[in-house]
Amino acid sequence: MASTPATAFLHNHHQPPPPPPSHHHLHNLRPSTTTINCTSTTTTTTTNNNRHSTSSPPPFTAKYVPFNSVTDESYSLDEIVYRSSSGGLLDVQHDIDALRHFDGKYWRSLFDSRVGRTAWPYGSGVWSKKEFVLPEIDDDDIVSCFEGNSNLFWAERFGKRNLAGMNDLWVKHCGISHTGSFKDLGMTVLVSQVNRLRKMNKPVVGIGCASTGDTSAALSAYSAAAGIPSIVFLPANKISLEQLVQPIANGAFVLSLDTDFDGCMKLIREITNELPIYLANSLNSLRLEGQKTAAIEILQQFDWEVPDWVIIPGGNLGNIYAFYKGFKMCVDLGLVDRIPRLVCAQSANANPLYLHYRSGWTNFAPVKASATFASAIQIGDPVSIDRAVYALRNSDGIVEEATEEELMDAMSAADSTGMFVCPHTGVALVALMKLRERGVIGRTDRTVVVSTAHGLKFTQAKIDYHSKAIEGMESRFSNSPVEVAAEYGAVMDVLQKFLTKVSQAQ
Ligand SMILES: *Cc1c(COP(=O)(O)O)cnc(C)c1O
Repeated sequence: MASTPATAFLHNHHQPPPPPPSHHHLHNLRPSTTTINCTSTTTTTTTNNNRHSTSSPPPFTAKYVPFNSVTDESYSLDEIVYRSSSGGLLDVQHDIDALRHFDGKYWRSLFDSRVGRTAWPYGSGVWSKKEFVLPEIDDDDIVSCFEGNSNLFWAERFGKRNLAGMNDLWVKHCGISHTGSFKDLGMTVLVSQVNRLRKMNKPVVGIGCASTGDTSAALSAYSAAAGIPSIVFLPANKISLEQLVQPIANGAFVLSLDTDFDGCMKLIREITNELPIYLANSLNSLRLEGQKTAAIEILQQFDWEVPDWVIIPGGNLGNIYAFYKGFKMCVDLGLVDRIPRLVCAQSANANPLYLHYRSGWTNFAPVKASATFASAIQIGDPVSIDRAVYALRNSDGIVEEATEEELMDAMSAADSTGMFVCPHTGVALVALMKLRERGVIGRTDRTVVVSTAHGLKFTQAKIDYHSKAIEGMESRFSNSPVEVAAEYGAVMDVLQKFLTKVSQAQ
């Protein structure tokens, strides 16, 4: 076993806080000869200040188990399996006892020491938590684009202006990322594991998904980075230019099908049963392991203080569970002592979880989702419904909804305070405003709104809003360009009027 930053560190765990790893190689210069294996056991007997001070760490492992059920059924992560034997969801289960060999302080220091560094692959916000994500993968098999480490933005002005002086409000900009959405956090894990399977000669020729937007963008980018063929099923003529351009540019095999999203989904599921194409859709539990690091990152960015509320827009409902899982793991391993209350925010046009919540979690019924500007959450029959209910029930959670006008106004109000958020973030901001109005969220509560995609993916919606081109919408915060003759007098005239107006408003 070669001595590497990671293993050297495990051998030295009697010296808290851990030294930052030394950098023999830059981020993009992967070590091709050394094998970093974080799961290695050490024979060195050490005295340390951590718990279980006499024994060496057992290997860290993870496996698939059926989600929230008590059976002995489990699968190696090196198997190609998407569902349990009864057809239910799977969950990646870590060997928590092995991880408990170290205390919370150890993990906090380890993760802090890696933030933004160049030692492959730990500078990634996902892989800096590798032991909690995919502990057994070889570092050389990891496919990373330096995802994560996203901005936790203090929304001071939005809180002041739109929430009557709420002063501890933060926006976690997960969309400021390689392909412009939080989907990168999950896709780096899925594509890395597929890369490993291919090296093990498992029958995987390509990776496929049905998606109209962010999933196909992330899949095609990470696959291209690894040199793995990707296949994207898109509904013909239902895709905007921004949604289409990323898979095309990244060289995915793009199939334009004369159907809607659900039709694409059905086809790809049937086809991946027959062909050696790995299915990257959202029931895949590997992706959630990467997505959960955003929750850990929030804790880290607050110096391991726990916020009171985290508000997440939800569609297929994997991400709300991923956040829960990230927070819960940090409690179980002693990094923090409680989890925040979670709020899932839905578009009123696609609100099956909201209706389920309002019914007191009695019986769940899918809905027919209608068009919403928050297009990534236009889902009426969410795959991860059980995961979401579990996350919300175990976090004293709440579900809220936003109408089209509410979400577009909230997005535009946020933009006018210097952000540039997507409509889904607008949905989450509306949920916050409603809960604040009802006094559920207090004025001084530390609250994080999760922003899921980059605003630049939604330029047409923003332009339509600002030019008041959306039927039935007042566009209260619209701001359209002034057409003015290219003459000194005319320009002076409009500017003088503008300056008078803004100085009166100040
Ligand atoms: C995928 C996505 C969501 C929804 O996440 P789920 O896990 O499906 O609930 C929300 N916003 C954006 C921008 C997305 O791409």
